[in-house]
Amino acid sequence: MGLSRSSTGAELVKEHKQNDNACVIALAGNPNVGKSTVFNLLTGLNQHTGNWPGKTVSNARGKCRSINREYELVDIPGTYSLLAQSEEERIARDFICFGGEEAVLLVCDAVCLERNMNLLIQAAEASKKLLVCVNLMDEAKRKGIKLDLERLSELLNLPVIGISAKKKSSRDVILAALDKVAEDRPQDEYEVEYPAEIENAIQSLKDQVQKISGGKLRTRWLCLKLLEGDSEIIKQANEYLNGELEKAEELLYAAHTEREKLIEQGIDSEKFQDMIATSISKRAAELARAAVSHEQGAYSTRDRKIDKLLTGKLVGYPLMLLLLLLVFYITIAGANYPSQLLSTALFALEEKIRLLLTSLNAPWWFTGLLVDGVYRVLAWVVSVMLPPMAIFFPLFTLLEDAGYLPRVAYNLDNPFHKCKACGKQALTMCMGFGCNAAGVIGCRIIDSERERLLAILTNSFVPCNGRFPMLITVMTMFFTGTVIGGASNFLSALMLTAFIVLSVVFSFLATKLLSSTLLKGKPSSFVLEMPPYRRPNIAQVIVRSIFDRTLFVLGRAVAVAAPAGAVIWLMAHVHIYGESLISIFANFLDPLGKFMGLDGVILIAFILGFPANEIVLPIMLMAYTAAGSLTEPGTIMEIKEILLQNGWSWITALCTMLFSLFHWPCSTTVLTIKKETGSRKWTLLSAILPTIAGFICCSLAAALARLITA
Ligand code: GDP
Repeated sequence: MGLSRSSTGAELVKEHKQNDNACVIALAGNPNVGKSTVFNLLTGLNQHTGNWPGKTVSNARGKCRSINREYELVDIPGTYSLLAQSEEERIARDFICFGGEEAVLLVCDAVCLERNMNLLIQAAEASKKLLVCVNLMDEAKRKGIKLDLERLSELLNLPVIGISAKKKSSRDVILAALDKVAEDRPQDEYEVEYPAEIENAIQSLKDQVQKISGGKLRTRWLCLKLLEGDSEIIKQANEYLNGELEKAEELLYAAHTEREKLIEQGIDSEKFQDMIATSISKRAAELARAAVSHEQGAYSTRDRKIDKLLTGKLVGYPLMLLLLLLVFYITIAGANYPSQLLSTALFALEEKIRLLLTSLNAPWWFTGLLVDGVYRVLAWVVSVMLPPMAIFFPLFTLLEDAGYLPRVAYNLDNPFHKCKACGKQALTMCMGFGCNAAGVIGCRIIDSERERLLAILTNSFVPCNGRFPMLITVMTMFFTGTVIGGASNFLSALMLTAFIVLSVVFSFLATKLLSSTLLKGKPSSFVLEMPPYRRPNIAQVIVRSIFDRTLFVLGRAVAVAAPAGAVIWLMAHVHIYGESLISIFANFLDPLGKFMGLDGVILIAFILGFPANEIVLPIMLMAYTAAGSLTEPGTIMEIKEILLQNGWSWITALCTMLFSLFHWPCSTTVLTIKKETGSRKWTLLSAILPTIAGFICCSLAAALARLITA
């Protein structure tokens, strides 16, 4: 379920409430505090979790039951405040402020409770039923952080529980507390003390607000919104109160007068918001002081030391490159052997299928279409893609879980700022390495519309996992494979790293180009949460990355590869005037291809590979082999032989790799971009930009190479 852009808080609650007896629970909290883990624990569903601020970008929902009640759980996006500057914050705010009698389960991080206090106080002020759930108690204990949750509960006058969402036993603790909150009457209003000028203004509106809202909304909170003149929230409050607010002319006039009075005292709207934020921060610090103590001095000294190293000028960048190199090396070296095993097994099975079909007297075209077309492409995709993905994704998830990726974003913040974009774009770029469509959805974590567009339009400049196998195979065949043994893998990893760096550089260039032409504007400042380093749970990382990512991506590729295999086989076997369809198209595109250092077949393969990048290489080989079917994968030098026979040289290989890096995004990504931007123009541009980059890169590389070899 996606983000709902137009619904009000009340509508959102109604939308999620499927039966009247069920209580809707909004699961709120700062990003990365374990909300998804709590959601999974309660519902038994499997949402993706990761040590990655802002990863819950759509509101997942699920059911759970205690002995007494049924709950509809909605995982709303993680936010730091309810001031609603971004779409996520708006949704979170709507749920919390206009949730009525439904409860909010606010998840906090025990390791850095003080950072969660701001949101906690705002939620306490605005909601009527709040359960504070301090998660990661196990981590806090390990780090010597002592929490006095009873004291916190006393000070807040709210129920507070401590849990470790990774432990099953926490489920009962949460449900018991939820039952109590759901059954109890709404909690008393939580009051933050504001400066005298604001308190006086609240006092003069309070009684009238109470009369009109009839307890449906929090009185002090609504007074503050009226004084602030927050028109969007006032409009929503009016709708929520069935139009009572706009009828209350006396109240609106009083609010107007009080606002004028504040302005006379030098408190304009900006100053007003500032004063509110300062009071909340002050209260947050007091609460944290009362509830948190550290056993062995500053608990985060270790984290800070590591941060200094990982984000330092001297070590930051080289380490980033080294880690990238290491990830690629392990992926390439580790994938070779299982790839060969898989391909041998799958092609042995192919013989069996062929024999079976022959014994059944199946017509030749049927066997051809099914075995040489569909099955072979499938076998290729599985044996070439599965092993590298099964290695790459867990490694990537490991870095994500340990908390390294936000440090990458921090390191890249400065260059992104120079391109007038937002540092969070680095995070979405990292997601793009896995899958560009996921990267594009991930752009929702960027608050400013302009910067979000910049990130979306340039995401496909970084290659997704589907493009790695082709890059690795071509690179091994023509550049690094002639070196024997481990050195070859190392060289491949090195070259792949260089290509990735090139893609990142181009991503910056494209961002800069857009931000100085179509998407001009100032970069916004943002707070990037540095989550504490955590020891990843290896078993969980493996299970999650295999099921959530590897099998998901593979499933998608297989679903696309099967029909593509059939289409290519048909194109190779349907002849017009003695020439196959595929060679007609290839001949047509050949001059353009040659100009770019490629050929017509390569271009056709990229065009037909639009549904998924993984199938480009199999299509290419199918088109080259006259029968329109594939050779067995795994025998890399045999494939090279086919390519050489079709006029390939190292220049063709280089240009193919460049074009694989920079061309239009796959169909899933294009659809995602259309959905996220809601605009055909931006979607088109997002496809044109990398394609132009690819065209320029290939043509230049080809011209240069011709010069060198001439
Ligand atoms: P969200 O962004 O708030 O949805 O956070 P996630 O549920 O994705 O959790 C962030 C990270 O914290 C993940 O690596 C989780 O595995 C980890 N995590 C969550 N709850 C606990 C817990 O109780 N103990 C420990 N040690 N780790 C946890």
